[in-house]
Amino acid sequence: MAESGVIRVLNANGVNTGVERTEFLVIGAGPYGLATAAYAKWLGLDVTIVGKALDFWKTHMPRGMLLRSGTDWHLDARQVATFEAYVSLRGLRPAETKPLPLSTFLDYASWFMGQYNLTPRTAHVVHLARSNGEYVATLDDGSRLHAKKALLGLGFAFFKHYPKDLTRKLPRDSYVHTCDTVDFDQYLGKRVLIIGGRQSAFEWAALIRERGAEEIHMMYRHATPRMAQPDWSWVQPMARLALQVHAWWRQLAIEEQERIRNDFWMTGRLILEKWLATRVDQPNIHLHEKAGIVSVDTCYDGTYDVLLEDNSRCNVHRIVLATGYMPVMNNVAFLDRSSILDRLATVSGFAALDPEFQTNFPNLYVTGLAATRDFGPFFGFTVGCPVAAKIIGDAVAN
Ligand SMILES: Cc1cc2nc3c(=O)[nH]c(=O)nc-3n(C[C@H](O)[C@H](O)[C@H](O)COP(=O)(O)OP(=O)(O)OC[C@H]3O[C@@H](n4cnc5c(N)ncnc54)[C@H](O)[C@@H]3O)c2cc1C
Repeated sequence: MAESGVIRVLNANGVNTGVERTEFLVIGAGPYGLATAAYAKWLGLDVTIVGKALDFWKTHMPRGMLLRSGTDWHLDARQVATFEAYVSLRGLRPAETKPLPLSTFLDYASWFMGQYNLTPRTAHVVHLARSNGEYVATLDDGSRLHAKKALLGLGFAFFKHYPKDLTRKLPRDSYVHTCDTVDFDQYLGKRVLIIGGRQSAFEWAALIRERGAEEIHMMYRHATPRMAQPDWSWVQPMARLALQVHAWWRQLAIEEQERIRNDFWMTGRLILEKWLATRVDQPNIHLHEKAGIVSVDTCYDGTYDVLLEDNSRCNVHRIVLATGYMPVMNNVAFLDRSSILDRLATVSGFAALDPEFQTNFPNLYVTGLAATRDFGPFFGFTVGCPVAAKIIGDAVAN
């Protein structure tokens, strides 16, 4: 059965040519892709989503993770299938959603998909080219999809950040990014160094310890963040300003953008959720604040001797980089080099977007983290999903 939005092209003899057409191709079935697909579908567009639903959340976030966001952040541009509507339908008690377990977010997202009858095609786009004003996607199941309009909902995984001044001090193959280490059973009885000192670093430390790690060292350049209840209440109203004036963020003075970015990161990075406090305040979790790496040497038994700038030393089995994500469109290897990547306008690695999230190619849109330069830091979190969905959906429908 053909999935919704796809038209199979037959030749004059009625034989399937292997070419499929859709009006609006959404690449990536993460929160941003799903939110936009739902709204565009509701507007009456033929939409095809390609990607495994919520794949990043299921395979690159650890089971047992608690979200920083609450049920006020949701996916619906129409404000109907909201997280709060889901919570009330299920009769969830406050204790079940504060803090919000990853599994509850996934349940909500899957209910949301059901509300809009979204059935992503479970495949991966391995190549996207532009040809005769259309976008041609090749999928890993061998099929080809032609689309007039396309959205890149790429998310996070392409953009793992490995700071060069750090990695050049680490032996080759000695480290792994948090994105690639969510199965914590391997840490049982192990000593671990976590580099980075924001929420994900502390949450990984708590989870790794709870799975039986022997010793955890955490190292970061800044002071230890405060554990408190962060105030995110100002973020949603600000993210929604783009609905009134799509270009409001880019119209701000650079200093004003910087101030808001700092406020956002102060909330997000310099305050850690209170529920983490007792989980990391443990005798076998050692904090090394305002410290950098001096050297890391590989030992005969495969462990690593680490010397830190605070003159402390440790010997560890594993090194985990909690160094975050930074968009670099050049990393998106499935984009065809000659017809897209080489001519894609970028600024500091981010795609340069117009006020409708459109790249310099007509009808090619970029959303989520890769759009944060032009729309503000909120679009790296689900709070921006309904906003981006509305703006992109309306643009695509016109
Ligand atoms: C540890 C951690 C904790 C976080 N906690 C929160 C939180 O509490 N609240 C919050 O709002 N946000 C949180 N975030 C941010 C969150 O990840 C983003 O808000 C959200 O994932 C953005 O949605 P997205 O659709 O842009 O990206 P993603 O969720 O990354 O989805 C992108 C999808 O595109 C798919 N894809 C990419 N390329 C292709 C291709 N070629 N073909 C097919 N599919 C493709 C990927 O497989 C992926 O499933 C957290 C992030 C991390 C790393």
